[in-house]
Amino acid sequence: MTATVRRIGACTEPATTLIEGRSQIDGGLAYGALKVQVYACDQHARAARTEWVRPPLTPFTAIAEPVVGRQCGDAADLV
Ligand SMILES: [Zn+2]
Repeated sequence: MTATVRRIGACTEPATTLIEGRSQIDGGLAYGALKVQVYACDQHARAARTEWVRPPLTPFTAIAEPVVGRQCGDAADLV
């Protein structure tokens, strides 16, 4: 799996939240492959879920992975 890293927005706060964008399968009852990972600070966590991860991808807040050493707005597209 290859990740293309990019930046969203201009915020440089330490990230506290990882939002995952996953593709939908069969009308949304199941969720598919991880397509994008977006890191956000507390202030931008909501924007990350509602604006930075765009339809048709579904945003999930990843709570299992600690977020260390990332800046708000760091994003990785997974191919
Ligand atoms: Zn931020």
